[in-house]
Amino acid sequence: MNIFWHRRDLRTVDNAGLSAASRDGSVLPIYIYDPDLFKKIGARQQAFWLAGVQALKTIYQERDSDLLVRIGSPADIIPELVDEYDIETVYCNSHYRPGRRTRRQHVERELAASDASLDARTDHVLVDPGRLDSSYTSHSQFHRDWETVPKRGPYDAPDADRLIGISDGKTIAVPDVDISLPPAGPEAAAKRFDRFCNQALFQYNDMRDDLPAAVENPTTSVSRLSPYISGGMIGIRSLWNRTQNLADSVSGRERRNAEKFPYELSWREQNYHLLYYNPDLAVENYNEFPNQMQWREDEDDFNAWTAGETGYPLVDAGMRQLNQEGYIHNRPRQVVASFLSKHLLIDWRRGARYFTKQLIDHDYASNYGNWQWIASTGTDSVDVRIFDPVSQMAKYDDGAAFVRHYVPELSDVPTEEIIEWPTLNHGKRNRLCPEYAEPIVDRNNGYERAQQRFERALGKR
Ligand SMILES: Cc1cc2nc3c(=O)[nH]c(=O)nc-3n(C[C@H](O)[C@H](O)[C@H](O)COP(=O)(O)OP(=O)(O)OC[C@H]3O[C@@H](n4cnc5c(N)ncnc54)[C@H](O)[C@@H]3O)c2cc1C
Repeated sequence: MNIFWHRRDLRTVDNAGLSAASRDGSVLPIYIYDPDLFKKIGARQQAFWLAGVQALKTIYQERDSDLLVRIGSPADIIPELVDEYDIETVYCNSHYRPGRRTRRQHVERELAASDASLDARTDHVLVDPGRLDSSYTSHSQFHRDWETVPKRGPYDAPDADRLIGISDGKTIAVPDVDISLPPAGPEAAAKRFDRFCNQALFQYNDMRDDLPAAVENPTTSVSRLSPYISGGMIGIRSLWNRTQNLADSVSGRERRNAEKFPYELSWREQNYHLLYYNPDLAVENYNEFPNQMQWREDEDDFNAWTAGETGYPLVDAGMRQLNQEGYIHNRPRQVVASFLSKHLLIDWRRGARYFTKQLIDHDYASNYGNWQWIASTGTDSVDVRIFDPVSQMAKYDDGAAFVRHYVPELSDVPTEEIIEWPTLNHGKRNRLCPEYAEPIVDRNNGYERAQQRFERALGKR
């Protein structure tokens, strides 16, 4: 008998390790709630993942099996289960977060004294980072190599007769959190993906930056699959294969639209590649500056940013979406991250940690990789990348629908004035909407200051 150790892969379909375990013999599926690892993610994501564990348990029970749930350290629990059930092989999937890598090593070390071994499969990514060069300076270079590696299709769910059902009634309650969470688990993920493919894939590229559409059709303007992908409630091969096949089935504009979705998955892959070769991605600049970067330490500015009260309407709308939904659309995600690390010159690590606390789609590789990309400390950093929050709003939310939705105090302010809010004079702002924040930094000065400070750190001044 084998064990399959579920970690961030809360599904039975398209699961590489589970599929391998079941081809090799009968399988006892287990999940270990590891409090030391769990406390590194936010309470909202913890609740979403635990709801995913319950959904997975139900899926096993419907197949006359069960998911054995334990609490504690995998290095203690797995050897006990190996002894108790006379296990031959413990299967799992490879994960890249340093804390997860260490745990797997500890399990391996403990199992060395037994007859059982550990077998970890590549599941989380389409291309094993070890098959590629160890570093790429730009996404286009990464993509060129990544694209040439053949990608396999989804794995089938294991046959029900391979699944062992040991039910001991143990489970972990899903804690209450401060926001309402979307339904968790593989069925909810599959439903969302079906809907997206049927209704939205062929307009994806045209819609993905359309912020009014994000308010009107939140799960079809973009997929909003990220919470499910980060919890492994849907397999990456399923996403890539189906969207690529659908793109191949059409031509012209529809094809260009649909192809963008599997292309976007390559950004995720690049972040995993970065993390694989740079385990300190969350704490160290990927690109070291020749001169020490002088970050500002300003609690008032940081608090205004977290609360969505910076006086920059698109930044505030984005931060309030994050606080209210545990999710933030990719366009404002970039704008708020740039605003913190450039206009406010606050260390990107502080922003990334706040995201970790609030997001339900927090993904260690994508969060820290993207923060570094925005902060000009990551890959593609040929220049100082600064998003202008005013022109970003003029371009992507020109009717102010997104901003009005999340910053309701601006509802009655004319659109042009909302867009130009940070550049209006104080008297005008006060007449238009005294209850909305004054800009905490001057738009042009903030831009200039960031440019100078980064160029100094880069040794260009
Ligand atoms: C500062 C910052 C932090 C981020 N943190 C995270 C994070 O913690 N978790 C996370 O999943 N994404 C993160 N992203 C990437 C991106 O914003 C989200 O993946 C996307 O907004 C999720 O919404 P969606 O599922 O509707 O995306 P869609 O547009 O529907 O895209 C589909 C999928 O493609 C992948 N994808 C798209 N763009 C990116 C990207 N730039 N990097 C990595 N993957 C991408 C994601 O898996 C996403 O779910 C971050 C981006 C920035 C700028």
